[in-house]
Amino acid sequence: MTKLEKIVSWAKRRGFIIPGSEIYGGLGGVYDFGPYGLALKNNIKRLWWKTFVEDRDDIVGIESAILMNRAVWQASGHETSFNDELVECKKCNKRFKADDKPEEKCQKGGEHEFTKPKSFNTMFKTADTYLRPETAQGMFTDFKQVLEVSRQKIPFGVAQIGKSFRNEINTKDFLFRVREFEIAEIEYFVKKGDDDKAFGEWLKLWEEFILSTGIKKENLKHYEHPKEALSHYSKKTVDINYNYPFGWKELTGLANRTDFDLKAHMEKSGQDLNYFDPETNEKYIPYVIEPTLGIERLMLAIICDAFEEVKPRTKTTEATTGKEVILHFSPKLAPIKVAVLPLTKKLSKEAKEVYSELKKCYSDIEYDESGSIGRRYRRQDEIGTPFCVTIDFETLKDKKVTIRDRDTMKQERAKINKIAEMIK
Ligand code: ATP
Repeated sequence: MTKLEKIVSWAKRRGFIIPGSEIYGGLGGVYDFGPYGLALKNNIKRLWWKTFVEDRDDIVGIESAILMNRAVWQASGHETSFNDELVECKKCNKRFKADDKPEEKCQKGGEHEFTKPKSFNTMFKTADTYLRPETAQGMFTDFKQVLEVSRQKIPFGVAQIGKSFRNEINTKDFLFRVREFEIAEIEYFVKKGDDDKAFGEWLKLWEEFILSTGIKKENLKHYEHPKEALSHYSKKTVDINYNYPFGWKELTGLANRTDFDLKAHMEKSGQDLNYFDPETNEKYIPYVIEPTLGIERLMLAIICDAFEEVKPRTKTTEATTGKEVILHFSPKLAPIKVAVLPLTKKLSKEAKEVYSELKKCYSDIEYDESGSIGRRYRRQDEIGTPFCVTIDFETLKDKKVTIRDRDTMKQERAKINKIAEMIK
């Protein structure tokens, strides 16, 4: 099994990520998130929101609608330019992205035989408009109103996290390329001339955020798009690529969108989207620096980085033939922070008391008394729980419990009334 196959199987076994509508055979490139997967995803989104919206005074959050007037997509250039170049194999009729030609054998035997590339618009069409393929446009169309109500001055930013949809042709590689996903992005408005400096600053901040999720620095690399390959709106684009099990691929991108979007919407809508600087009496259309990030792509990178298979390290009563899986999630992102485990069911009363005490401080904790203690540790390691608190017969005498560290397996005994603080 490849590392990715192991991750896909772990994600399903532990209820992190499940193929969408699976009882009907699934739907390509669509996934559901089970209880732990959703908790992990929410923790990632919360960390992003706190870092860029709550902890800063110069960025405000909005939530714009998924459906927008079709004129938006005409003005933004998406209707004509949001295209993938596709080739089709003349033998098996399968379609591929032109820059992603597969080495695999054609199902009809021998090599594939491709047609010339054809443009294919990847927006999902609805009756009157499209499902948005990015959240950015809502931040441009709302620009004037948000500016007025938030009383911000340039430089300032608008942030949002929201569902986006792309009719991707090749959806292999699990969460990496899906049809329905969430984008977290910021439109940071600056004065023309200040854009290059802001771009450099944002690249640094963006990478710091990725590192704050626990991803290792050696697995990140910058990639600057060559001029001829830039998107229709961009003056400069740098991706941060991650070393996925299937190769170095774009995790996130930073683009200098210039005044392209605001200018286009101003022309098409006839509304004045200029910024007025009250200090200098200048009126201008700001430039915009856009850091953009797919939450699912980040989640997959976090999982790949945290995933480790080791020789069995906990004794279980069952035969331990296979390997053990540990997810070394950063404690701030782990779906469950603490598991409370009585050594045997005979101690469940005392253990439930400890659980109730801890629950006052931590909402994401779990109680488990089923099966051997080794097996329960193993299960918590597999979902990435950083701490297990065990209640044993000594606890009845000394009011102390054992705290086990997921990564080092170090066990420490501590008074029950001290553990909440210790874990913090
Ligand atoms: P790619 O070249 O891989 O198709 P892109 O350059 O089209 O990506 P952007 O338009 O910059 O991607 O999208 C912003 C971010 O959204 C990307 O950096 C990525 O994290 C995420 N993203 C884009 N497409 C998908 C997808 N199909 N599934 C999951 N995440 C995606």
